[in-house]
Amino acid sequence: MRIAVLCLQGAFIEHIRMLGKLGAETFEIRQRRDLFSRSYDGLIIPGGESTVMGKLLGDLGMTDDVRNMIKSGTPVFGTCAGLILLAKEIENDSRICLGTMDITARRNAYGRQLGSFACTAEMKGVGTVPMTFIRAPYIERVYGGAEALATVDGHIVAARQDNQLATAFHPELTDDTRVHEYFLGMIGK
Ligand code: GLN
Repeated sequence: MRIAVLCLQGAFIEHIRMLGKLGAETFEIRQRRDLFSRSYDGLIIPGGESTVMGKLLGDLGMTDDVRNMIKSGTPVFGTCAGLILLAKEIENDSRICLGTMDITARRNAYGRQLGSFACTAEMKGVGTVPMTFIRAPYIERVYGGAEALATVDGHIVAARQDNQLATAFHPELTDDTRVHEYFLGMIGK
């Protein structure tokens, strides 16, 4: 199994390490031609700064390609900023990037200063997992084909829609590999 990781900005190294622990081969996407240079079974869009990553995707001419790839069924996992890039609507921002997932995100939803915290909570299909939030968004609502998989303090922090998985938290920053295992389990289904 080979997983492409979008390596334009943000916490991509941690995803690569996590996938390595699970025995998956990884492949770095740094420019448009990388998208087409070999085959892969899934794509990870890491956390970071969604405005910067979205701008880089646009400047590099990759936004439409990545969107089409997701729409044609490639499994994708977006964490934190990655969740924001996948959202069809953002409550407090007009910059929609990929817009493939039926979720409304709220950026920096926990406030800028006190927005980083850790907790454990139940994630449907995974179990109780540690969750690390860093200036995280949450999901205001899911609709259409999207399903909420986890909530913390009444806010949705993980969702799935067919081939798309999004978490507001960073499983790659913990030692717990189960959320990545869940993603790998979406491949080939
Ligand atoms: N606050 C960031 C954003 O709006 C997301 C933070 C993260 O990815 N850890 O893009």
